[in-house]
Amino acid sequence: MNIYYADMNMPQNASQSAIAHLAFCQQHEGEMLSLLRRMVEIESPSDDKAAVDSMGAFLAQVFERLGGEVTFYPQKEAGNHLKAEFGGSSGKPVLLLGHFDTVWPMGTLDKMPFRMEAGRAFGPGVYDMKAGIAMMVFALRALTAAGHDGNRPVTILLDTDEEVGSTTGRPVVEATAKDCEAVLVLEPSQGPQGHLKTSRKGVGDITIRVRGRASHSGVDFEKGQSAIIELARQLLEIVKFTDPARGITVNPGVIQGGTRSNVVAAEAWAEVDLRVVHAADAALLERKFAALKPFNPQCSIEISGGMNRPPMERTEGTIRLFGIAREIGQGIGMATEESSTGGGSDGNFTSALGIPTLDGLGALGEGAHASNESIVISELPQRTALLAGLIRSL
Ligand SMILES: [Zn+2]
Repeated sequence: MNIYYADMNMPQNASQSAIAHLAFCQQHEGEMLSLLRRMVEIESPSDDKAAVDSMGAFLAQVFERLGGEVTFYPQKEAGNHLKAEFGGSSGKPVLLLGHFDTVWPMGTLDKMPFRMEAGRAFGPGVYDMKAGIAMMVFALRALTAAGHDGNRPVTILLDTDEEVGSTTGRPVVEATAKDCEAVLVLEPSQGPQGHLKTSRKGVGDITIRVRGRASHSGVDFEKGQSAIIELARQLLEIVKFTDPARGITVNPGVIQGGTRSNVVAAEAWAEVDLRVVHAADAALLERKFAALKPFNPQCSIEISGGMNRPPMERTEGTIRLFGIAREIGQGIGMATEESSTGGGSDGNFTSALGIPTLDGLGALGEGAHASNESIVISELPQRTALLAGLIRSL
């Protein structure tokens, strides 16, 4: 698409560039879909290291062909995280962030093969977030084709345990992001209009374990101290922590305890999901859980876990990134809106470090983690051009 830029010394404004990037992405839509198909057909569930590593090996080839320098971060159980660095002339790099693990177990492809139908592409991980990775590749190619690869360096970081909490991915994500100018997260967009995500709730996971004393419910009822009754009372206490106006939710999602109906339960526990909009509320919630006291002094309570993703707050830096995205979007006929979500991503970590982070830049679609997982094919070129424009503008 060099025809748009016969004279490369002439300064180009963001929207002119975006038009060139869009033309490139439209012309290469078929190629982008083939790459997407290849990726979907390499299954990569978070808990299958060998499978995830095959996906990593494939991606390394793709990035090396683009001129990237690939580094793996070897892991014992999780797949190896992957970084690809693309040189630029000056400044801190722009980080393109994502993951290549999926929630789908091996063999899902047999029931849910990659297919294209009614303008959509279906398949395990297609939306969350292999399309986002294909977009990274083609955004870089669009920049190169337009002679726009001389700006900031670009770093791609893809981790392999995002879908299970980024336990091993988090330190790599944080170490990489702290030296970057901005973070663009290629997680799926929000809703049928494909909104970008400027804030995400923080996520926590707390286990409340109650220990009482077992006894025969017929013979020695009064000697028992029911852990189940105690847990039930605690649950009624913690649901009071929910504060919709502040965006705080507390959900006991799993509960277990006791052995038989004729035994006073000696043990019971619940697993509780926490979501907060503000970082300050995360600390407050943790303190409230820590302060829980047993109603029945014969029972004991043990609290474990805590916040595992800080909230991605709607910071000045993020708003600025969104403003740039909106302007580029206008230039290519794309209405760009922002939204917030209760779901977390690795963007939560980078945002909490104070690095401007814009999320939801990936595909438009639906059904993440569900059998109707799919993306809208016709939106791919525009959204990829938006990504290229953003990289170019930063
Ligand atoms: Zn994801």
